[in-house]
Amino acid sequence: MLGPPGAGKGTQARKLCTYYNYARISTGDMLRESVRKKTALGRKAKGYIETGALVPDRLVDAIVKARLARKDCENGFVLDGYPRTIPQAEFLDAVLTSASKIIAVVVRVRNEVLLERLAGRWTCPDCGKIFNSESRPSLEGDRCDECNTALVHRKDDAAKVVEERIQVYHQSTEPLVHYYRGRGCYYDVDGEQPVEDIFETLRAIVEEQKEDRTVRVF
Ligand code: AMP
Repeated sequence: MLGPPGAGKGTQARKLCTYYNYARISTGDMLRESVRKKTALGRKAKGYIETGALVPDRLVDAIVKARLARKDCENGFVLDGYPRTIPQAEFLDAVLTSASKIIAVVVRVRNEVLLERLAGRWTCPDCGKIFNSESRPSLEGDRCDECNTALVHRKDDAAKVVEERIQVYHQSTEPLVHYYRGRGCYYDVDGEQPVEDIFETLRAIVEEQKEDRTVRVF
């Protein structure tokens, strides 16, 4: 799943994974966990994440490759926030077998809507569930209504950092549209529709592609 920060990739990835029993692979969540645990990767990634820059490809590629080797990916998986650069997409192509089916979905949302959404976004640092103080508050107030962990407002959701992340998206990640378009596996989705409508669109896409072979959704 491709799209700028705040487009709703995480929310839709979670819904798809629950519905289809796919593995959810969020490089952002994995990197943030490494930062929290102060692992070697986390120490290297911290500065990039906090300033809204991309973590170097070789670090992200390595965690994705290791994650894809786990058994729960056999039934299919959703990549949320990966690939984000052309070299990452090439790496992914090299890692996947030729029998794998890739679906690339770009979730589009206007910049001004992204800024508004991210200002009110609260995230569960444990299970990754995403809330919005205005449009999607947690049923448990300031705690996650799924795992009861205290919600956080991500440091990189601060207005200044968000602007940088949106710019990085347009510069480094948007070129992936051309990378996937023309392969017959590319879809553009309007991310400003209600959450359930977007999910229905994504479900229809997966069903269409599923008629063929094993589905792998980005
Ligand atoms: P996200 O949670 O997907 O918005 O990611 C948060 C931050 O983690 C990004 O702003 C990057 O600093 C880093 N990150 C996540 N995924 C990637 C990726 N595929 N390539 C490089 N950096 C990434």
